[in-house]
Amino acid sequence: MSSHLDQTFAPLLAERRAAHLYRTRKLLQSPQTPQVVVDGKNYLAFCSNDYLGLANHPDVILALQNAANKFGVGSGASHLVAGHSSEHHALEEEVAAFTGRERALLFSTGYMANMGAITALVAQGDAVFEDRLNHASLLDAGLLSGARFQRFLHNDLENLQTRLDKTDATRKLIVVDGVFSMDGDCAPLPELAAVAHKNNAWLMVDDAHGFGCLGKTGAGTCEHFGLTQGDVPILMGTLGKAAGSFGAFIAGSETLIESLIQFARPYIYTTAMPPAVAAATRASLRLMQTEHWRREKLKQLIAHFRAGAQALNLQLMHSFSPIQPIVIGDEAKALHISQQLAERGILIIAIRPPTVAAGSSRLRITFSAEHSIAQVDQLLMALADIMQGLAHD
Ligand code: PMP
Repeated sequence: MSSHLDQTFAPLLAERRAAHLYRTRKLLQSPQTPQVVVDGKNYLAFCSNDYLGLANHPDVILALQNAANKFGVGSGASHLVAGHSSEHHALEEEVAAFTGRERALLFSTGYMANMGAITALVAQGDAVFEDRLNHASLLDAGLLSGARFQRFLHNDLENLQTRLDKTDATRKLIVVDGVFSMDGDCAPLPELAAVAHKNNAWLMVDDAHGFGCLGKTGAGTCEHFGLTQGDVPILMGTLGKAAGSFGAFIAGSETLIESLIQFARPYIYTTAMPPAVAAATRASLRLMQTEHWRREKLKQLIAHFRAGAQALNLQLMHSFSPIQPIVIGDEAKALHISQQLAERGILIIAIRPPTVAAGSSRLRITFSAEHSIAQVDQLLMALADIMQGLAHD
């Protein structure tokens, strides 16, 4: 006998299936490397966020093992109760130094860091302005904050200024992704910092995809543009992507961090990440800062891919980041190409609405420093083959 809940949701699931929008999970049976085993099959994968290839680095694994032997597995408490270990503390200091900020605060995930920072900084009576392509966690946080929530057109400074002109709120928060997660392009941070300054607004940058990848030393999108804490007072970064680990941070002034410790509910009311994860992340941070070849290699792979994809007349986006989507448009066609790639042993996910706008479905290709030029060629050859087949259909 099906319950009322099942009867309510079954047609909604059927609707999603019919629209080619049904989401499914694959079973990963290997480490997250370019060569993965998924659902019992070997694939060459271009879909992880392990951009620098540090998730399986022996130094990082060893740091995790050693710290687990010393500290155990669970942190056992929230940071403010008794869960803030010396490994967390050292990692915070190292992240602050790396990003050139006074202090940094660890969160258990990036989703929670965004939720925590935005809801701590603005509330009813305030105003929050977000790029319409911001990550879901930023949009959710803006809505939950209770502040007047507005989305401005993607990377459109005029549209932002028009909206700022119409507000009389005293606390104004502008929030953008440093690198947009589904397009791979950057926010115009110097211009946004100038707009924020002129309007007495605070600028927050979610650098989940720039941290570790962009900038001369890998400190991220702010470093790429030569911006400091004065320009971008609230910097968020994740540790589950280029750092190859797990968790996230907010970095900024002493006062910002103390305010988050007091007011950020997703910081206060949750278990601290395992200390061994913090120790592993410290090891990956050291590698990020010493093994510069990883960023150089990424650049080469990206340039090679873009040249090859352009030769095939594929529609790329304005991205120099490791996120290199190919825009297909139609949902069913994107899914079909992803399936065709899978048949050729290549794993690439088709991103469809509601994650991206209807009619802009895409293959989201991501590169890792662990990929080889030969593997990029293999991908290009498969794409050429599939596209030729589609042209003849
Ligand atoms: N911000 C952006 C731009 C992201 O892409 C993601 C992860 N998909 C997050 C935040 C959330 O980070 P986490 O996975 O650590 O929760």
